[in-house]
Amino acid sequence: MDTKAFKRSLQHSENYHRRGFGHQEEVATQLKSEYQSHLIQEIRNSNYNFQRDNVTIRLAQAFGFCWGVERAVAMAYETRQHFPTEQIWITNEIIHNPSVNQRLREMQVKFIPVTDGNKDFSIVESGDVVILPAFGASVQEMQILNDKGCKIVDTTCPWVSKVWNTVEKHKKGEFTSIIHGKYNHEETVATSSFAGKYLIVLNMHQAEYVVNYILNGGDKHEFMAKFAKACSSGFDPDIDLERVGIANQTTMLKGETEEIGKLFERTMMKKYGPQELNQHFQSFNTICDATQERQDAMFELVEEKVDLMIVIGGFNSSNTTHLQEIAVERKIPSYHIDCVERIKSNNMIEHRELTGELKITENWLPEGEIVVGVTSGASTPDKVVEEIIEKIFELKQSVAMV
Ligand code: SF4
Repeated sequence: MDTKAFKRSLQHSENYHRRGFGHQEEVATQLKSEYQSHLIQEIRNSNYNFQRDNVTIRLAQAFGFCWGVERAVAMAYETRQHFPTEQIWITNEIIHNPSVNQRLREMQVKFIPVTDGNKDFSIVESGDVVILPAFGASVQEMQILNDKGCKIVDTTCPWVSKVWNTVEKHKKGEFTSIIHGKYNHEETVATSSFAGKYLIVLNMHQAEYVVNYILNGGDKHEFMAKFAKACSSGFDPDIDLERVGIANQTTMLKGETEEIGKLFERTMMKKYGPQELNQHFQSFNTICDATQERQDAMFELVEEKVDLMIVIGGFNSSNTTHLQEIAVERKIPSYHIDCVERIKSNNMIEHRELTGELKITENWLPEGEIVVGVTSGASTPDKVVEEIIEKIFELKQSVAMV
C-alpha cells in the first residue's frame, strides 16, 4: 500500500479534520477550570519549591501536560461542541490519563470496543465522528474509517507525524527502519504501519543483539523468535539489515535512543567503511522536545536532596515510566501512581513497579521533616498533581497531630 499517497488523499478529504473547529476560546476556559490548579501555579511561581508545615515539595522544572497532549484534549473537547448530536468515537485513549479519558466518557465520547485483542470497527457507522488520539492510529485503521465514510478528527501530535515522515523516507530509500520503542505501544503500532521493512528494538540490550548479528551472523531462528512480534512481515535478518535507518517512539528515554542510533552507526561504519556509511545508515532527530525537557528536569531533580519521589502518570504511560526509571536508578524511594486514590490514609500507597506490577508499600511517608520530589508525565493534568500534594500535606499533618 502506498501509505504516503493514502495519507495525502485523506488530508484532502472533506471528512478529515486536523485543525480544530474554531471553538478554541470556550474550550480553553473549560480546560482551565477542569485541569489547571492554583496550588501548582503557586509552586511554579515560587521557583518550584514549596513548604507547608514539615513537608517541602520540590517540583521538577518541566512536568505534566505537553503541548501535544493539550492540543489533542482541546481538539476532542472542540469536536464534542462542533458535533453536539453525532455519535463520537475514539480509537484509543486520547492520552494515557485515566481522569481525562473518564471525562471524555462523561461527554459521551465512546471508545471503540476491543474483542480478543482486536478493535471492533463494525460498530462504527457512516457519518459517525471518530477521533484519532495524540499518538496516532495505524494507516489500516484510518483506511477502514475513511472507507466507512466517517468524519475523522486527527489529533495526532506533529512530533509523532514527524517520525512517520522519517519511516516513509526510510521506505523510499529502501532502508529498514529500526524503531526504538515498545512493539505493542499504540504509537509504535501506528509508526510501523507507515514503515516498509522494520524491526522494533526495546532497549540497548536488544540493539546489541541485532548489531552482533549484523557483524557476526548468528542463529536466524533464534533471531526471528526473539523479534517475532516486532518486525515487518517477511523480515529476513540476513537481507534486511544491510541498510538501516533509525526512528523512535517519541516517549522513549532520549539518551537511550541516541546511544542506539550511535551503536548502529558505528556498526555500519565497521562493516562497510566510512565511505559507504550513507548507503547503509540514516538518522534524523525525532526525539520530542517535551519528552526531552521532562527527562532533563528529572535528572536535575534527582541531584537534589529528596527523601522520596512521587512520579505521577497513567500506568500505561511510557514517558512516565521512563521518569520513574531515572529515580530508581538513583536508588531514591520512588512511587509511580496515577491518581490520589492510590494513597491510602493509613500510610499505605499502591504504586506501579517498573516491572508493571502493582505493589502496596506501608510506612512510605517518613516521620518528621521531609522533602518530596514530584514530577508527572506528559499526559497528567496539574489538578491530579495538586490532589496528590494536598493528600501528602494532609497525611503528614494528621501524623503530627497524633
Ligand atoms: S510527548 Fe511529545 S510527541 Fe508525545 S504528545 Fe507530547 S509533544 Fe507530542
